[in-house]
Amino acid sequence: MTKSKDNIKFEDILEKIRVYIEDEKQIEVITKAYEFASLKHSGQFRKSGEPYIIHPMHVAAILTTIYADYETISAGFLHDVLEDCDCTAEEMEEEFSHEITKLVQGVTKLSKIHFSTENEYLIDYYKKIIVGMSEDVRVIIIKLADRLHNMRTLWALPEDRQKVKAREALEILAPIAHHLGIHKIKSELEDLSLRYLKPDVFYDIAEKLNKTKLERDKTVYDMQTEVSNLLNEYHINHEIKGRAKSIYSIYNKLDKGKKFSDIYDLLALRILVNTEQECYLALGIIHSKFRPLPKRFKDYIAMPKPNMYQSLHTTVFGIDGYLFEIQIRTHDMDEVAENGIASHWAYKENGGSKATANLQTTTEQKLQFFKSIIDLSKEKMSSEEFVNSVKDEVLNNNIYVFTPKGDVIELPKGATPLDFAYKIHTKVGETTVGAIVNNNIVPLNYELKDNDIVKINTNKNSTPSKEWINMVKATQTKNKIRSFFTKNEREIYIERGKYNLEKELRKRKIVFSEFFSDDNIKQICENFKLEDLEDIYLVAGNGRIAINAIINFIDKPEEIAQPKNIKITSSSTDADIIVNGIDKVKVNLANCCNPVYGDEIVGYITKGNGISVHRINCHNLSMLEDRTLEVTWNSNSNKRYFTSILVYTNSSDNNMLGLMQSISMLNVSVDEIKTITRGDNAIYEISCYVTGIEQLNKLFTAINKNAYVDKVERIIR
Ligand code: MN
Repeated sequence: MTKSKDNIKFEDILEKIRVYIEDEKQIEVITKAYEFASLKHSGQFRKSGEPYIIHPMHVAAILTTIYADYETISAGFLHDVLEDCDCTAEEMEEEFSHEITKLVQGVTKLSKIHFSTENEYLIDYYKKIIVGMSEDVRVIIIKLADRLHNMRTLWALPEDRQKVKAREALEILAPIAHHLGIHKIKSELEDLSLRYLKPDVFYDIAEKLNKTKLERDKTVYDMQTEVSNLLNEYHINHEIKGRAKSIYSIYNKLDKGKKFSDIYDLLALRILVNTEQECYLALGIIHSKFRPLPKRFKDYIAMPKPNMYQSLHTTVFGIDGYLFEIQIRTHDMDEVAENGIASHWAYKENGGSKATANLQTTTEQKLQFFKSIIDLSKEKMSSEEFVNSVKDEVLNNNIYVFTPKGDVIELPKGATPLDFAYKIHTKVGETTVGAIVNNNIVPLNYELKDNDIVKINTNKNSTPSKEWINMVKATQTKNKIRSFFTKNEREIYIERGKYNLEKELRKRKIVFSEFFSDDNIKQICENFKLEDLEDIYLVAGNGRIAINAIINFIDKPEEIAQPKNIKITSSSTDADIIVNGIDKVKVNLANCCNPVYGDEIVGYITKGNGISVHRINCHNLSMLEDRTLEVTWNSNSNKRYFTSILVYTNSSDNNMLGLMQSISMLNVSVDEIKTITRGDNAIYEISCYVTGIEQLNKLFTAINKNAYVDKVERIIR
């Protein structure tokens, strides 16, 4: 071992790795990577005067804290070898795998990029880094670890370089870490940046925290004990931690005009339990003893943040009159909260290469920011425009709004319902005719706020107006609107055809790419005398051939199959609905009114999707008049039926626990309980499975017995 003032040792890193990597072959590769890097960097020194190898060792060590896979750790050791040493990619690939070499090359490409702005040539590089994420998200994770260690040793640089590096870390790398959900790295990057950008503020906060530390520690400890005893009384297994707020998060609040003494979450607890149900139970129990501060409750379990974060947040009046911010979540949710996307590595059962594949897929599919960046990179715009859009509209200054179904959509600050509509789908944007926000009709240039619930009304014959360009915020939306006016008729029909086909296939639960396999495309083209897939879209879009004719040609409707196992009047059928006079037909329970066994029902003949069964009082039926037919329940079915109810209360307390207790006495399985509106008259939505109307009525009676309940009703969407 090289002697130095920094006494990091390979053996120590290895020990951390062995905690979660057992495969000896993988350990061998890691060891070899360390030895190779040591050799290549020998004789090199950092600005701090230490041997260079210390740096990649720290990077690898940081990567172990998020349980990185062996390829990522190996690439961590090797990450500066291609750039700074006499070593080619070919040589590296001979010693290590192609995968590892590719990771190192990815990081090398990035380190040539300086995240400064101004200079156009640098901006081009910057574009590369962001788009580079699409190749392998592990490259960015290594880059984050690299930058984190450089930030920890930033003191070795001259002051002007310090500020540049700190700003880059704060404006670009910390937001990327945030969007990837890697909280540990994000938070340390922020604190370190603040220390160099605003040293006086940083040390001022640190000192204030220090002065009050003893008193706070004691209060937190006492509260912890009380809460723990309380949860034990109810036999809820839990782990409970005091929790330090980061200096940067305090600075942020001070910066927004709050006083140091007003920042609630200086005192904070985190409670970890085993199941999601226990999260809500624990919450109810805590609220029954400690009065919650109104409007501070947030349910990120029912509605996770776009970076997958899940937790319950509440603020209560704790012991000695101190306010406590309490987070409640399961151990699994905690793993995701700390490590975000990297938590895929932590789950042993799907470890190894599968976990790494999941990492990439999840990044691409679940993280909206990622998709936004990739979409932006496809737009025609200057590099400068691109970089500014990414920085201002994707990485920073976001608001979060909800679809009526509760999905979270991330938008830039200042976004309007039109931005929302285009974000859902270009076609939705282009056919928008109106918007409803929190149940009020709003103009299309209305500025959306955090937590708004947005519903878009569309009309399939409507088209965008040129004025919209001035009514939207996101560059991407502007470009989409502009491109509508430069498209020709053919393109519009092709897009419309594709969209309508997608929609119908989704309705029938058919995977788009499977439906349009090469073989199926060939068959459709032959049958309808078309050229290619684009041609199929075109005829579907301009209405020459009906969407259903195209789909039915491949996905033949089920009816008139062999009638052998259908005896509709016999007791052997397990279908839950009997359609009078028709032998075999696809039947769905409509998900607008969710009929349950025993409800008065009526069937509606859909176009190509069998019969959908509605409750007789479902308002959606009034529009469907001519196509209804009589259906009855099959009394032999012992299915359970999904249904959703709304509970209106006259109280602002959190009554989830009480509601859950009322339900638990019946044999009803609850799918979800969530708060729809808070405030003086909180409303809850309960989704559950019942055996039928009888059990549902019992449920209503049980819930109605609670004094705080005003009324209970079933939802018809
Ligand atoms: Mn480095």
